[in-house]
Formats: sequence, structure tokens, C-alpha cells
Amino acid sequence: MKNSDQSLPGLYIHVPFCKSKCPYCDFYSITSLSLIPAWLSGIKKEVLIYKDRFGYFDSLYLGGGTPTIISEPDLIHLVDYLFTHFYFSPDSEISIEANPDDITQEKLKLLRNLGINRISLGAQSFNDYDLLYLSRRHTVLQTRRVIEMIRSAGFTNLGIDLMYGLNGQTETDWCKTLESAVDYKPEHISCYQLTIKKGTPFKQKKFKPLNESKERSLFMSTSALLEQAGYLHYEVSNFAREEKYICRHNAKYWNHTPYLGLGPSAHSFSPNQRWWNVKSLNKYCELLQKNRPPRAGTESLTEEQLQLEYLCLGLRTSAGIDRRFLNNLSALKELTDAKLVSIKGGRVVPTREGFLFADSIPLLLSE
Ligand code: SF4
Repeated sequence: MKNSDQSLPGLYIHVPFCKSKCPYCDFYSITSLSLIPAWLSGIKKEVLIYKDRFGYFDSLYLGGGTPTIISEPDLIHLVDYLFTHFYFSPDSEISIEANPDDITQEKLKLLRNLGINRISLGAQSFNDYDLLYLSRRHTVLQTRRVIEMIRSAGFTNLGIDLMYGLNGQTETDWCKTLESAVDYKPEHISCYQLTIKKGTPFKQKKFKPLNESKERSLFMSTSALLEQAGYLHYEVSNFAREEKYICRHNAKYWNHTPYLGLGPSAHSFSPNQRWWNVKSLNKYCELLQKNRPPRAGTESLTEEQLQLEYLCLGLRTSAGIDRRFLNNLSALKELTDAKLVSIKGGRVVPTREGFLFADSIPLLLSE
């Protein structure tokens, strides 16, 4: 993955609805499905604000929440509306997030007909105890059936999302989950460490964070197991079966490529500016009713801030950063001696161990 490969912007739509709230999740989502019509009319108004400002997109990502929860007519209406008001390049990556309990054969057929060509499946684990611990609404058997359905429906770009670091989950359990995922040869695997966020039910009870050595060991075995299975570890938490399966949309977040996010809590970036929407559907609709952008904040980035972001984002990926951007050569030497980064083709790239320090390495290099 090279930073310069990504030039067209991406479009993200936040669908903030879920059947129930998972106790560890801090994404903005609500369970009042009766508000879907209000959300949809809000999205349509927001589309009109930006329709002439971004040119061509080459990715669309329907995320959430649970985008597959919305009804067939609403989904058709949404996608048609987006394709009517925005331009997309013909080879666009069009992704949708799905949970195993929301997928049916009919829905898959609809997704294919709508041009959706990538599914990101929130499997989380191939162990039923883990799924119970996470209060997920599906079982492993359901996940297995759904993966088979996705393949028979003709989807050739499937991402499986997994979660590790659960209390009671041993490293052997986790490796079995990874092996089960690999058996399906998904084009993409994301492995997120369970971390507990403020204000979530897991914060109040139930969860003991991993100690550093356990965290390290799980991370290193994840990377080793998936690389041995042929996957590219291209970002701290993300693995692709081939370079062409790197999630084009998510890569824009790390490449400083512009993206537009619509819906409550969605974030956007266009050169030198970031903005983010309000985290409340009511407020979102209220602002749009008054023909006002539903923003909660906007930030103009200075050249210095952009440089630091370039380091922070680039060093999360296997593409790394251009060596010429670095002035602190003694920090670079220390980090290469410690085998946390290496230099390849004029770029500074993190090693597997270096990925573990993705948050602190950029700060050392920018001092
Ligand atoms: S289904 Fe996904 S978005 Fe919804 S509450 Fe659970 S983790 Fe969060």
C-alpha cells in the first residue's frame, strides 16, 4: 500500500441502528428502528449539501450500526439516491457491514443487485462462549452458514471481523478462531483487541484489561499466524489475502485521502480540514430541517498538524512513510536498532513489533 495510490475520495454513510446494543460498543447507534425514515430523510438532505463538492468517489462504505438492518425498499432508495446525486468511478469498491443474524439469501441477492461488491462480516469469534461473553446475537453455526451463503451468492470480496483479548479467552482459543476464519479464505481479516471505552456497560463491570505481555503475545501470534496463512499484515489491525483486497475505503483514512462521511457521528476530511457530525439522530435531523450542516465541530489543520498526522497514520501501515520527511535521524537510528522500524525503498516501515508501538513511534520521530 503506497500513500500516493489513493487519490479519489471515499463516501461513508453511517447507519446508526442496531437490534440491540453490544455492551462493549461505543459507536453511535440506537435501537429505535422506528426512526429509520427520519434518518433516511436526513441523509438525503445532507447529500444535497455536498453533492457538488467532491467530484468522483471510488469507494462507498455503508457502516454502522448495522446497515443490513434497514428494509429492502429503504436500502434500494438510499443506494439509488446516492448514485443519482454523486459520481462514482465504474470500478468503485462498495462495502456494507453486516452481522450474521441479519443476513438472508434474499438480502444477499438484493445487495448484489444494488452493486455492493464487498461484505464486512462482524463474526467476532468462532467460539460460542466468546459470542455469549460479548452478548452477540448470533452463534458460530449462524456465522458459518452465512459465510457459505455469501459465497454462493457470488460475493468474491469478503472481510471477516474478529475480536481478541476477551476475558476467559486463551491464546489457543484465539488461534482456533483465527484458523476457523482462515479456512474460509476470506479476502480480508480485521482483528481488533477488545478495549473498554468510557460509558459502555463493560466499563462498569465484567472486564479485566490484558497485561502488556499478554497483549504483545496475542498480537504477535495473530500476525505470525495470518502471515503464514498468506495474508499481508498491511495495517495494525488489518490483513488482506492479496494487495488488491486491501480495503480501499479504509485505506483512505490512513493515506490522507479525502473522504465524506454522512449521518450522525460521521467524520469527514478534505485537504486541510476535518469535520464531524453531531452524535444524536434528533439533533442531526433538527439541524438539517433548518438547512444547516449537522456538524458538531470543524478543524483546520496547519502544515505542522498535517505532518504529524502523516507520521501517525503512515506508521500504522506497512507502507510506512517517506524517509525524507524525517529530521530526527538519531531517533530513527534508535528505532531501527531496536528493530521497531526498518528502511525499505526509501520508506520507513514498522516491523511487526513496531506495529505494537504505532501510537508512540511517530511522537519519538517528530521530536
Ligand atoms: S452490532 Fe456492531 S455497531 Fe451495533 S452495538 Fe453491536 S458492535 Fe456496536
